[in-house]
Amino acid sequence: MTDAGTVASGATLYIVATPVGNLEDMTYRAVRILGEVDLIAAEDTRHSLKLLNHFNISKPLTSYFDHNQQFKGERILNTLRQGKSVALISDAGTPCVSDPGYHLVRDAVAEGITVIPIPGSCAAIAALSASGLPSDTFTFAGFPPARQGKRRTFLLNLAGLPGTILLYEAPHRLEECLRDMLDVLGERQIVVARELTKIYEEFIRGTVSQVMTQVAKGKVRGEVVILVAPGEVTPAETVEPLDGILLRLLDEEGLSVKDAARRAAEISGISRNQAYTEALRLKNTSESQ
Ligand code: SAM
Repeated sequence: MTDAGTVASGATLYIVATPVGNLEDMTYRAVRILGEVDLIAAEDTRHSLKLLNHFNISKPLTSYFDHNQQFKGERILNTLRQGKSVALISDAGTPCVSDPGYHLVRDAVAEGITVIPIPGSCAAIAALSASGLPSDTFTFAGFPPARQGKRRTFLLNLAGLPGTILLYEAPHRLEECLRDMLDVLGERQIVVARELTKIYEEFIRGTVSQVMTQVAKGKVRGEVVILVAPGEVTPAETVEPLDGILLRLLDEEGLSVKDAARRAAEISGISRNQAYTEALRLKNTSESQ
């Protein structure tokens, strides 16, 4: 048996998953690889030092995070070019999954450096596995934008996808995100998976409104993954972009801005206000042409 995880003489970049909460989720292989490499690149060295100390791993450590990735990426690549091995870890879970790493992996691959994943915890996958929502097809969409307008557009773009949608969200934005979900995606089944693998692990299941009621009862603390079941009508071709719906209602059916907005809101599931603003913009644009 060849072991893809044995540190050999050649340059190798290991992408090592670490626990999203429970240290028992660290794999034997992750411990071994972190103990064997020449250098560990970590998102937050102070945070990772605690993990490494816990597993008695003592190795040169360097930081690699979003704002230093260009400069640090080059230094890490230089280490690899010398035939050394480097392990990349993030604060929790799998690097590159809403965490730094993509640029480094892309550049390493481009230079022909061997890149080896050391799989393990990932909050999105852990949440999906226990959600009870369809898991044969799913879309991981990362963090929704923080601003409402962009978040609604982001959700609208996900509306027609088949399968379950997986999102990461900050706990303080959970309520507003659920509100937009209700407006844009409608009353779907969802699951909020909270504090996975930790003492207060919780799965809040129900329709968007039911989960909103649950969430409103107490402050949701800790980290969350939101999972959204597929809508009733999912084929992408049946989801018409808002502009297309409005232009059809305004130009072809000759409806007023107000009526077009009301109908478009019913068809697309977005709020009447948003549909009205968009209808007005389209009407003004077409009149000024
Ligand atoms: N790379 C990580 C992974 O593999 O899951 C994700 C990193 S991302 C910066 C952090 C987000 O992941 C959190 O805001 C939360 O949405 C989700 N997350 C991380 N740990 C979690 C946990 N224990 N329970 C629920 N969600 C978690």
